[in-house]
Amino acid sequence: MEVIKITPRGYCYGVVDAITMAKRLATDPNVPRPIVVLGQIVHNQHVVTQLSQMGIQTLDGGSRRDLLNEVPPGATVVFTAHGVAPAVKAEARRRGFRTYDATCPDVTRTHELIREKVSQGYFILYVGTPGHPEPEGAMGEAPPDRIALIGQLTDVQSMAVPLGMPVAVMTQTTLSQWDTEEIIRAIVDRLPDAEIFNEICLATQSRQEAAVKAAADADLVVVVGDRRSNNSNRLVEVVEKIAGKPAIRVESADDLDLAQFEGIDRVAVTAGSSTPTAITRAVIARLDQLNTHQP
Ligand code: SF4
Repeated sequence: MEVIKITPRGYCYGVVDAITMAKRLATDPNVPRPIVVLGQIVHNQHVVTQLSQMGIQTLDGGSRRDLLNEVPPGATVVFTAHGVAPAVKAEARRRGFRTYDATCPDVTRTHELIREKVSQGYFILYVGTPGHPEPEGAMGEAPPDRIALIGQLTDVQSMAVPLGMPVAVMTQTTLSQWDTEEIIRAIVDRLPDAEIFNEICLATQSRQEAAVKAAADADLVVVVGDRRSNNSNRLVEVVEKIAGKPAIRVESADDLDLAQFEGIDRVAVTAGSSTPTAITRAVIARLDQLNTHQP
């Protein structure tokens, strides 16, 4: 069995910067303790565990606003790479926490764009994954009556846009570019004058394009990534939907079910942009081993 290593794969610059910031805080004795991250700094449990071993606590499982209520007095609060709503930042300041912001610059750009378009009188349609922290943060940049979330194609039919108001459409950074195109086409069918700002980041696009291209020559694609990683889940989706090839997501080499590789001649491996390189290397090494054990 041949193992194709897809490039680019794995860490993007936004993830590297966020993790670097957290690790720097962990080693700085002048930063007030405890150091608490509001949500997973990036969506990968291996990273969260490593930070925890360095003394950084992760609060998880609710909205950023709810998580803030769990932060003890005097703590340092870190905002994650996914961005956070201005109201959460203001509340953290009001409570006297020292704060650090690990928001990816690509996400910050979308926040700025939302603010700009709202100030110009636009209504915003934000295409994103319901329940994910990135839409939660971005949508907090607009008053609730000036923004709506489009989570899927069927939402376009039911969306309510105020009459006579110009519309700007923006997207989450880690969506499937093909699904997003379909949603945007449907929006433009209904609202031909809508201004479109496709905010899918370059890291997401390049990893998706490379995965689809490599899948053409493979029997199976393995995506290494956390179950909560939006961009990892989208990699599985684009391989299946666009390349028409089977794909599986694993969180580590331990998740590999070797029975799935029987009869496979070529397997291609990629990784979400929040997946540590060492974890992907271990998956590739396990598959290479399998290679040497097959006749
Ligand atoms: S996937 Fe894109 S938006 Fe998210 S951290 Fe990486 S570069 Fe930034």
